[in-house]
Amino acid sequence: MEERLQKFLAEAGVASRRKAEELIAAGRVKVNGVVIREQGVKIDPKKDKVEFDGKALSQKAEKKVYLMLHKPEGYVTTSKEQFGRPAVLDLIHGVPERIFPVGRLDYDTSGLLLLTNDGDLTYRLTHPKHDVDKTYIAKLFGVPDDGELQKFRRGVTIDGRKTSPAKIQIISREKDLRFCTVEIQIHEGRNRQVRKMCEAIRHPVAQLKRTATGELKLGDLPKGKYRFLTEQEIKYLK
Ligand code: URA
Repeated sequence: MEERLQKFLAEAGVASRRKAEELIAAGRVKVNGVVIREQGVKIDPKKDKVEFDGKALSQKAEKKVYLMLHKPEGYVTTSKEQFGRPAVLDLIHGVPERIFPVGRLDYDTSGLLLLTNDGDLTYRLTHPKHDVDKTYIAKLFGVPDDGELQKFRRGVTIDGRKTSPAKIQIISREKDLRFCTVEIQIHEGRNRQVRKMCEAIRHPVAQLKRTATGELKLGDLPKGKYRFLTEQEIKYLK
């Protein structure tokens, strides 16, 4: 049966479906020896030979693997890095499947990052319609007052567009009130969203850590370490 090239690439563990579209546009994918740049091309996985960066892709999908990493600060979540900074994949050893991060965490953010070779799951989890709350613990400069907290909760305008309502509560403050720690929950995944929302209420982020994605919790997984998800966690994600 024929299927779209980007779906095939995602299922073969090359990248998420959206990322696969970029790889196609960049001319890195060949079908039967011919570079394909246009989107929407259909292939027959049984008959057609698909190559990515010159390497033939197995037509049988790899075993699906699902990992949770405690990303440290100072790592990028992209695999190709133009400034030579360390990448999260450098922290994963002994996983032969070609996995990739589900969504992004900033270079200077730590916490829960999922990695998988399941392109369909990545596509669903990173789609703007997907409605999973992400929980963050943030250290903020200063202490927001009630008005600022309400503003954050109602949604603030960042990059010219209002964010949807979010949750925020102060969980501790320093004696001199120069910093406080808040727990934040948002379900969108816009670029540097938490940082920009906190800036919008004039309490910039000093430190940021993601502690949960929906019901998946980082728990006491040490920084820099990863573990495989349990069957139950995988079922929850699907
Ligand atoms: N929001 C941010 O600002 N940064 C992240 O890494 C994740 C969410």
